[in-house]
Amino acid sequence: MAFQLPNLPYSFDALEPHIDARTMEIHHGKHHAAYTNNLNAAIQGTDMEHMTIEAILASISKYSPAVRNNGGGYYNHNLFWTLMSPNGSAQPAAGTAIHDAIIQDFGAFEEFKKLFSAAAATRFGSGWAWLCVGAEGKLFVSSTPNQDNPLMDVTEQKGQPVLGLDVWEHAYYLNYQNRRPDYVEAFYNVVNWNEVNRLYLAAK
Ligand code: MN
Repeated sequence: MAFQLPNLPYSFDALEPHIDARTMEIHHGKHHAAYTNNLNAAIQGTDMEHMTIEAILASISKYSPAVRNNGGGYYNHNLFWTLMSPNGSAQPAAGTAIHDAIIQDFGAFEEFKKLFSAAAATRFGSGWAWLCVGAEGKLFVSSTPNQDNPLMDVTEQKGQPVLGLDVWEHAYYLNYQNRRPDYVEAFYNVVNWNEVNRLYLAAK
């Protein structure tokens, strides 16, 4: 059973002006498609063909770099598309579980945002910034290199990701060139906090 490239849950231009249509088209249609195809090629004829992507990631240290890079790329982008929406909002709605958890674990939404933006800005080269549910349901911010993620057994800070931001240059270079901080700031306009909240509740 091969892994399938999911359709985007909105049109390529739905996140403009924050994320431009051409970037979305290439990011989904070329980059995510390549991770999906390369993952399928890497697991062909192995037991991984019968495993969930989450199970593969949880024991990724057993597998080849091709599975790690493309399996991570497959999962991370599946998640990433659902975390954005043309109806996104700069903050989670008051009274939602994720709103209250952010206040409880970081003190204030702005404190969380500072940590998350710093994780995105200071990840050298390519990688991701994450908001995760860790041990005992506590939220933490982290970042990972390349296509690694917090589900992988090789990752230092393991947890269930509920928000992720792709900071590979392919995610922003056409519109923002070298201005990664501008891309990170723009991302907050399109975050689908309803989905983050759903993932948070599921992870608890
Ligand atoms: Mn990407």
